[in-house]
Amino acid sequence: MHYQNTLAFAKQADENDVLKNFRNEFLFPQHNGENVIYFTGNSLGLEPKNAKEALLTELEDWAKYGVEGHFHARHPWFSYHEMFKQPSANIVGALPEEVTAMNTLTTNLHLLMVSFYRPTKQRFKIICEKKAFPSDQYALESQVKYHGFNPDEAIIEVAPREGEHTIREEDILQTIEQHADEVALVLFGGVNYYTGQLFDMEEITKTAHKAGALAGFDLAHAAGNVELKLHDWQVDFAVWCSYKYLNSGPGSVSGIFVHQKHGNNPDLPRFAGWWGNDPKTRFLMEPGFVPAQGADGWMLSNAPVFSMAVYKVSLDMFNQAGMENLLAKQKQLTGYLEYILQDISARYDNCDLEIITPKEKSKRGCQLSVFTHGQGKKLFDYLMQNGVIADWREPNVIRMAPVPMYNSFEDVYKFGQILEKGLQKNF
Ligand SMILES: *Cc1c(COP(=O)(O)O)cnc(C)c1O
Repeated sequence: MHYQNTLAFAKQADENDVLKNFRNEFLFPQHNGENVIYFTGNSLGLEPKNAKEALLTELEDWAKYGVEGHFHARHPWFSYHEMFKQPSANIVGALPEEVTAMNTLTTNLHLLMVSFYRPTKQRFKIICEKKAFPSDQYALESQVKYHGFNPDEAIIEVAPREGEHTIREEDILQTIEQHADEVALVLFGGVNYYTGQLFDMEEITKTAHKAGALAGFDLAHAAGNVELKLHDWQVDFAVWCSYKYLNSGPGSVSGIFVHQKHGNNPDLPRFAGWWGNDPKTRFLMEPGFVPAQGADGWMLSNAPVFSMAVYKVSLDMFNQAGMENLLAKQKQLTGYLEYILQDISARYDNCDLEIITPKEKSKRGCQLSVFTHGQGKKLFDYLMQNGVIADWREPNVIRMAPVPMYNSFEDVYKFGQILEKGLQKNF
């Protein structure tokens, strides 16, 4: 795409966009009677218009059937989670039996670590990225302590080199190799929440396995955002949330992946609940847990139908849009934002917009994280007051994620116009 910083270019690009109609399927917060420029789909995706009706369907069925809704609702609650297998599998590159929807993200990270972080005296270390999302840091730290180890010793963080913002792939692989005798688990975010760096999950998994460790990923910022092939990459397990790029609403249900090679091993230690029991004997209510096949064997509880109803609406849209189309547009749209930022940065002396997200399209998703050197929070506040919703991180970073499902090229163009006006004010 040959980008131009003009409204005509943006309008034409939107006209050519095969996904352009999906924008109309979402509710945008309003600013002066117009849709805001919403660049925080990496934090909380927008509400699909059909969410309300999907929720009403379940409320009606609850009213009509009471407990009988487990079997008689339009989407019977007994097997509700099964509707999510194929669509989730398409998004993360898995077999349907390797995925399920349950609980929330941090809960699931803990549950899968129960099975896949099995430290021994000799092999007890976890290798992760520096500046992982805080919830993940707390989860790792508490798991390590739970097993009686010292986090300072057991957790090895791979950091960017001095003066750099993103982590070099070779440093990750080298760290794993260096600790090959002691590492039990390599756990990375698929995409780092702060820098937007996409890690090479296939290579990390391969290296972890060679070192005798398992490899797991937190895909909160990757699911619905970048190409994933968890099955082919031989990833051991993964977790993600459904409310960021997957648009299913605040605190909504999480997804898990357990590779086929582990999914049917009833001897793997796990924390069990009745919904993880083989559905054929679930209602016999007898002692003796028999895990269901695949990822379902990690479920604890019956499905949180209200949050999952919205998730289903969203997954149906992903299915209609097609991951391939979304990924193609994602590269163009984020590329356009990058172009606009560079164009503006070159024309203003009072600001250097340094994009810390990798330049290579294969090393990032939607998100760009930008240092606004020479400007402070006032510039960000100006953007927010003028209808741009982005995200500020101390000391001086703005994170923006134009998402292919509902953002337009015109959004990006208009954002550039507002940014220029802010720079002209010279706060
Ligand atoms: C958003 C996010 C979370 C949030 O966890 P919840 O349990 O859903 O509150 C955790 N980890 C990462 C990497 C995230 O990006």
